[in-house]
Amino acid sequence: MRTAVFPGSFDPFTLGHLDVLNSSLKLFDKVIVAVGYNSGKKGFFPPQTRVEIIRQAIGENPRVEICSYTGLTVDLCKDKKADFIVRGLRTTTDFDLESVISQANRTMKPELLTVFIPAGHEYSFISSTVVRDLIVNGGDASGFLPKGVDISGFIEQSRRDK
Ligand code: ADP
Repeated sequence: MRTAVFPGSFDPFTLGHLDVLNSSLKLFDKVIVAVGYNSGKKGFFPPQTRVEIIRQAIGENPRVEICSYTGLTVDLCKDKKADFIVRGLRTTTDFDLESVISQANRTMKPELLTVFIPAGHEYSFISSTVVRDLIVNGGDASGFLPKGVDISGFIEQSRRDK
C-alpha cells in the first residue's frame, strides 16, 4: 500500500490544499493530512480546530486520515509507515524553500521521497495567510475555502476558547 503524508500548517485548510489532496489521492492509496504545530508558536486557529476544519472540508473518506503532530515530519512518516511526503507548489519561491526541506528530509531518511504537486492555476493565488487577513479584517473568505466549511462557527469557537 502506498501511503503519503501531506504535512502543513493548514491554518486554515484552503481550496488550494484540497486541490493538492485530491491530486495526491490519484497517486497514493492513503493520504495522511498532518497538521504540524509548534507548541511555542501560537497559530491563528488551535491545532484541534484546524483538524476539525479539515474534517468538515473533506467529510468521511476511508483513504484520508487527519492528524496533528509536533516534531519532525520524518518521525511522523516513520510512525505512520509512510514512504512519501506530498507538498504543493505555487511559485518558484515555494520550490526554492521546498527543495531545501526535501533535501534535509532525504538526508535524514533516504528512502523517504517528497512528491511535489503543482497548484491548479485557479488556486495558485490562494494561501492561508490571505484567508487569515480577510478574517481579521472582516472580509469574506468563503471563496477560498472548501464548500461546507463553516468558518464563522470556528472563528466564534476560537474567540470563546480564548
Ligand atoms: P506550511 O507552513 O508547512 O508551508 P501551509 O499550510 O502553508 O503549510 O501549506 C501546506 C502545503 O500546501 C505546502 O506544500 C504549500 O506549498 C501547499 N499549498 C498552500 N497553498 C497552496 C495552493 N493554493 N495550491 C497548492 N499548494 C498549496
